[in-house]
Amino acid sequence: MIETMKQKTAGLIKPGQTIGILGGGQLGRMVILEGRKLGYRFVTLDPAADCPGGQVSDRHVSAPYDDQEAAASLAEAADMILYEFENIDPEIVKKLEQQTLVPQGSRLLELTRHRLMEKQALTRAGIPVAPYVAVETEADLRQALAELGLPAVLKTATGGYDGKGQWMLKTDQDVAALPAELFQQGKTLVLEQFIPFQKECSVVVARSVHGEVKAFPPSVNLHRHHILHMSVAPAPLAEGVAERAVRLAEQVADSLGVVGLVAVEMFVLASGELLVNELAPRPHNSGHYTFDACLTSQFEQFVRAVVGLPLGPTTLTSPAVMVNILGEHGEAFNQAYGLLPGQVKVHWYGKEIAKKGRKMGHVTVVDDLESAIAWIDASGIWPPLTEQEKKVIYDR
Ligand code: AMP
Repeated sequence: MIETMKQKTAGLIKPGQTIGILGGGQLGRMVILEGRKLGYRFVTLDPAADCPGGQVSDRHVSAPYDDQEAAASLAEAADMILYEFENIDPEIVKKLEQQTLVPQGSRLLELTRHRLMEKQALTRAGIPVAPYVAVETEADLRQALAELGLPAVLKTATGGYDGKGQWMLKTDQDVAALPAELFQQGKTLVLEQFIPFQKECSVVVARSVHGEVKAFPPSVNLHRHHILHMSVAPAPLAEGVAERAVRLAEQVADSLGVVGLVAVEMFVLASGELLVNELAPRPHNSGHYTFDACLTSQFEQFVRAVVGLPLGPTTLTSPAVMVNILGEHGEAFNQAYGLLPGQVKVHWYGKEIAKKGRKMGHVTVVDDLESAIAWIDASGIWPPLTEQEKKVIYDR
């Protein structure tokens, strides 16, 4: 028993020790806010001096992510290093792995930065994904289109986000209109069959350094202009689908040997079938609701998983609807601010410059679905939900 305890607590990072974070965005900020509760110190690395994470860390290193010297000084200052987003060069992470503890590892980063590698790893693990074909040349694309047919979605393997690096192909004209440079840069692309899904859901799962796995309740997610607009928990899904989504996400975490968090985004088909669309090796926007509506937040769970603590309970304490506040919502939000009801939990990221599409903050309405949506629609902060959007959320 004592031996087991010793083994279990070997390598435990203790309160007072320092965690370094590559990236100083809102995800890092919320990890730090929760990690401080446990007594950890934080040092952040981000090019922006006044970034959301840097504002709440003990020390901030302002330098580009690929600055080897800055990365080395982060490693020196920290007992462990985490990354909070994927646009980090895996080579930097590999170097850091030789210097200090990087529990998430470079392998997961490499996989989740590359759509094709990610899909191949999922397929090898027996996880269902949309039918896809790798494409490098125009001839490959013709062949892939012959295999998968139209409609289809062409995606760059790397560098795409918020709908960038993505082309919806409905007709032959759409194919003909693809930018010619796409095939001249030796880039890897992935052609995916278009999936007429009923809704999108996601599950954030933690897997600790000891291999303990625990998932958060699934959320149903609504996107506007390719950016997450709203997440709803508990997820309005047909019977049995939420349980299958959780099992699938746990299977992803186990089969990829995740340490930390992985967010698993899925398409839900009308038949109830689930297809995994995308992974993120970190806290995820669709899991922000856990901050106010679960016994443990995804941010605390991330810290628990990497420092070697047992994972916390993920029980939902209240139904919740999370809505993002983008740059264009800021003015209306400011006007409504003094009148926000108590069950509207505000998270503001401290970004100075508001741009269209930039995530400035979010609110989580801890109330039943109907009341939460009624308040959101009446608030005047966001354009109200359309009938189609309501259908996506409510239909099971
Ligand atoms: P992704 O960058 O892969 O997360 O895709 C962004 C969004 O595009 C997804 O959330 C879906 O709404 C849509 N999308 C991506 N791939 C497909 C697909 N194969 N079929 C239908 N819609 C898709």
